[in-house]
Amino acid sequence: MTTRERYNKTISYFRENMPFAETELKYENPFGLVVSVILSAQCTDKRVNMITPDLLAKYPTVQAMARATPDEIFNYIRSCSYPNNKAKHLAGMARKVVQDFCGQVPETVEELMTLPGVGRKSANVITLVAFGNPAMPVDTHVFRVSARLGLTTGAKTPLETEKQLVRHIPRNLLTTAHHWLILHGRYVCLARKPKCQECGLRAWCRYYATSGYRL
Ligand code: SF4
Repeated sequence: MTTRERYNKTISYFRENMPFAETELKYENPFGLVVSVILSAQCTDKRVNMITPDLLAKYPTVQAMARATPDEIFNYIRSCSYPNNKAKHLAGMARKVVQDFCGQVPETVEELMTLPGVGRKSANVITLVAFGNPAMPVDTHVFRVSARLGLTTGAKTPLETEKQLVRHIPRNLLTTAHHWLILHGRYVCLARKPKCQECGLRAWCRYYATSGYRL
């Protein structure tokens, strides 16, 4: 099977079986999404969604959060992983948005990566989800599922995976495809024990065909 055929089959499958795929983080505007994305590092979306209502009720705008100290923010995010670092990142992010971007969350990956707590993957998520710009954030699920399916070959880093996926997935499908791969990795193609018998992709999955993995 050619790479093109593999992509076509995968896209067709997801289009039919997961027509609506979107982030599980709850947010109302770009600022809220940046806050959620910073909190979501090494933390579940479910936990983040429990934290953000009170946090954003206290600091509803980037200007309000910019006036807060990390210690004040810490009180609202203590149930999250790494609350000390994340409180510093949130305070620093808000100040930078106010000082350098006139209080507007920037759109480009390069600008977003200047914000404390926002690395390349997070910047890709924000530009993609908040602004609809084409991007392919590669987290552990996207990295693993792409490799297993054979959508990527020999990719050793998230950036290599990103480049291969962007080369083959139509631009207008990148947002949805990102969520397809994440959700498939989160609920079916699990890291330790993929649920291959429940998976509609196994007929052309390279991992299934070559690993001898049969449940
Ligand atoms: S067949 Fe198995 S390894 Fe392949 S994508 Fe499906 S769950 Fe993952």
